[in-house]
Amino acid sequence: MTHDLIIVGTGPAGLTAGAYAGRSGLDVLFFERESIGGDLVNRHEVRSYPGFPDGISGTELRGKMVEAAEAYDPEVQLETVERIEPGEPHVLHTGGNEYEATAVILAPGGTEQRLGVPSEEEYEGRGVFHCAACDGPLYRDERIAVVGGRNHALIDAVFLTEYASEVLLVDSKPELDGDDTLVDEVTSHPDIEVRTDTTVTEVVGEDGLLTGVEVERGGSSETERLELGGLNVNVGCVPNTGFLEGTVDLDDEGRIVVDHRMESSAPGIYAAGDARQDSPLEIAAAVGDGTTAITAAKEYIARHGE
Ligand SMILES: Cc1cc2nc3c(=O)[nH]c(=O)nc-3n(C[C@H](O)[C@H](O)[C@H](O)COP(=O)(O)OP(=O)(O)OC[C@H]3O[C@@H](n4cnc5c(N)ncnc54)[C@H](O)[C@@H]3O)c2cc1C
Repeated sequence: MTHDLIIVGTGPAGLTAGAYAGRSGLDVLFFERESIGGDLVNRHEVRSYPGFPDGISGTELRGKMVEAAEAYDPEVQLETVERIEPGEPHVLHTGGNEYEATAVILAPGGTEQRLGVPSEEEYEGRGVFHCAACDGPLYRDERIAVVGGRNHALIDAVFLTEYASEVLLVDSKPELDGDDTLVDEVTSHPDIEVRTDTTVTEVVGEDGLLTGVEVERGGSSETERLELGGLNVNVGCVPNTGFLEGTVDLDDEGRIVVDHRMESSAPGIYAAGDARQDSPLEIAAAVGDGTTAITAAKEYIARHGE
């Protein structure tokens, strides 16, 4: 059986495309390898999403987006797409199964970037964490550091003050790279100490638990040990596009190259959200991409479908 459309990923980009596709009467199949809702599951508070001036919880927004997509009863397979053969139809391979579709929308998002310093992996889940919403409560009354200087790191630093006794915001750049209002919020927050121009060079621990990090101040080789109970690594994400190598063009960062209609280098295969080239890495942008991609995909399906 050839589906009209297969969507890879059920984050904001995929769910938006799916809701539009369902409304248009298309036969849609979703693939999801982890949890329905994508990265929204891990967001305690979503800011900068239109319509919610005071923010909205990731769980609530996820619930509404899933409900909108489910209204049209799409098929959902909890499987990882491992390979795609572009063609007419496109053939998607999972562990052992094959599925066909006239058009495909790739919305696989990204995975949190690591710092790449010694002992980081060893203390992953033993003091080193990425999801502030999931793991923040485990660090009650601890002194923790958030590494990163962009909006998402600043938001999480403020959130983590609800639990931690003190939050250090550590960034290697000379200045924080977030919106002015957020920078003001963290720099004036009584429980946040901002350390710019400071690079984490090593994670240290004892008896299998993190106890701190070594940092280096910009331009000097002098190191300092920061004693910590937790380390939130918040330095962006790497696109989940390994399975697409050789299928569609990827840029130097591994993001899917698209045109203004979100079409990839393979005709009939579109991309949306954090995984596409030059994405602003925001939910509003993912939602917009999903809308653009399904608009173009619908035209493709009308021309190439049975
Ligand atoms: C710490 C942090 C805080 C953030 N805070 C905000 C905020 O306040 N406001 C805001 O607008 N944005 C925020 N963002 C960004 C926002 O989460 C992303 O922009 C958004 O989730 C991207 O949506 P997406 O649909 O592209 O991908 P995702 O939400 O990442 O969803 C992709 C889905 O695809 C699935 N998948 C991947 N590969 C495969 C495969 N091969 N087969 C099957 N399924 C697959 C994944 O499991 C995942 O469920 C934040 C991000 C971070 C890291």
